[in-house]
Amino acid sequence: MWSFETDADYQADLDWVDQFVLDEVEPLEFVIDNPLDHSDPVREALIPPLQQQVKDRGLWATHLGPDLGGKGHGQVKLALLNEILGRSGFAPVIFGCQAPDSGNAEILAHYGTPEHKERFLQPLLDGQISSCFSMTEPQGGSDPQVFTTSAVLDGDEWVINGEKWFSSGAKYASFFIVMAVTEPDNPTYQRQSMLIVPAGTPGLTVVREPHVFGTHSEKSSGHSYLRYEDVRVPKENLLGGRGEAFVVAQVRLGGGRIHHAMRTIGLARRALDLMLERAVSRTTQGEKLSRKQLVQEMIAESWIELESFRLLVLQTAWKIDKYHDYKRVRGEISAVKAAMPGVLNRIASRALQVHGSLGITDEMPFGSMIMNSFSMALGDGPTEVHLTTLARQLLSRATPTDGMFPTMHRPALAAAAREKYADVLAAHGRA
Ligand SMILES: Cc1cc2nc3c(=O)[nH]c(=O)nc-3n(C[C@H](O)[C@H](O)[C@H](O)COP(=O)(O)OP(=O)(O)OC[C@H]3O[C@@H](n4cnc5c(N)ncnc54)[C@H](O)[C@@H]3O)c2cc1C
Repeated sequence: MWSFETDADYQADLDWVDQFVLDEVEPLEFVIDNPLDHSDPVREALIPPLQQQVKDRGLWATHLGPDLGGKGHGQVKLALLNEILGRSGFAPVIFGCQAPDSGNAEILAHYGTPEHKERFLQPLLDGQISSCFSMTEPQGGSDPQVFTTSAVLDGDEWVINGEKWFSSGAKYASFFIVMAVTEPDNPTYQRQSMLIVPAGTPGLTVVREPHVFGTHSEKSSGHSYLRYEDVRVPKENLLGGRGEAFVVAQVRLGGGRIHHAMRTIGLARRALDLMLERAVSRTTQGEKLSRKQLVQEMIAESWIELESFRLLVLQTAWKIDKYHDYKRVRGEISAVKAAMPGVLNRIASRALQVHGSLGITDEMPFGSMIMNSFSMALGDGPTEVHLTTLARQLLSRATPTDGMFPTMHRPALAAAAREKYADVLAAHGRA
């Protein structure tokens, strides 16, 4: 059955979320630097009561199953929620579904010991702490063959040495999930393992906090360059088996990628809404911008791109719910991941253009949206890698032709048709 409708009860929840994000969440970015900074008293005064309202409404961490305190709503419902939350960088924290914590929670739920679950998972799920996923290294992120950070077992402890780059949220994290080479002689994808490193473990230091263009505050860019120098953790801190880092990582990456795409719908829609508002507000040469056909083209193109993207995201979400197997939907997730930066970039760029000089100032959000589109094209793997994944999957279904010419070569098709209908053609004198 095909249906594009949301059930009435859930729509009521979504309407509540829409208003709540507008009234209570969107203003927060003007008074709080980073929603993860528990040492900020303003953050502590404003955010926990809002999180409580979300919990009371039954919308906290809905991506999780009931065993982990969520609703197990599935990806389609999550998509409809996330496209509202995407309007504000603070909303995922208020709704308990922010990256990288949502993915890290999934890893801990799958692979953590009872002690890990009590010490790290539960406070993470409750929104009391945040976490970091530390995989990319300064010499490269797309190619795991270049990762050199190592973990060596010394008695009952792993000793970690190496550097990690762009470890988002490291500054406020209570623990890190670190990918390190433990089996150097194994094939590439079986060399590394995942380990938990609690914050404050001796030997873990920040080399620098690279600032990202377009982020409002130097303090909040938050993608740390980290050094691990003889960092010791108990041997029980291994998540999954030795050499199984990529198996473990898959638990978080599939979901993480599509969740970003869902939120991007909200951000791009905000840009389109602003474009529409400006077009009907601003007058030039005696008429509103909305009367100019080239502006109308920008609006129409933006709507088509946004709605097409949204349908692809929703259909991919639906397939995840149907198959419960990220691997089976890998091509679709890569497609969504690869499409997302371009959709946001083009719509935000047009919105910027329609706002004229105001558009390029930091008094409007377009510059940061456009910069954000570049971040999206890198985080969780560059666009090129995802395009390749999709193309390979499509190519794996293709069959080569036996002959010299393609199957749909018209002369061959015409000959086959003439043969098939030879009697009829002969009866009508067209043989
Ligand atoms: C906002 C943001 C947050 C991030 N958060 C985290 C985090 O929390 N934890 C973490 O571990 N990492 C994080 N990263 C790092 C991210 O995973 C890497 O940026 C990404 O994997 C690419 O690695 P790289 O930056 O080293 O680029 P490189 O690997 O050096 O690639 C550079 C470019 O080479 C090209 N390229 C690479 N591979 C191919 C290919 N197969 N085919 C064609 N072209 C190719 C692409 O154009 C690519 O952009 C984050 C990145 C960003 C931007």
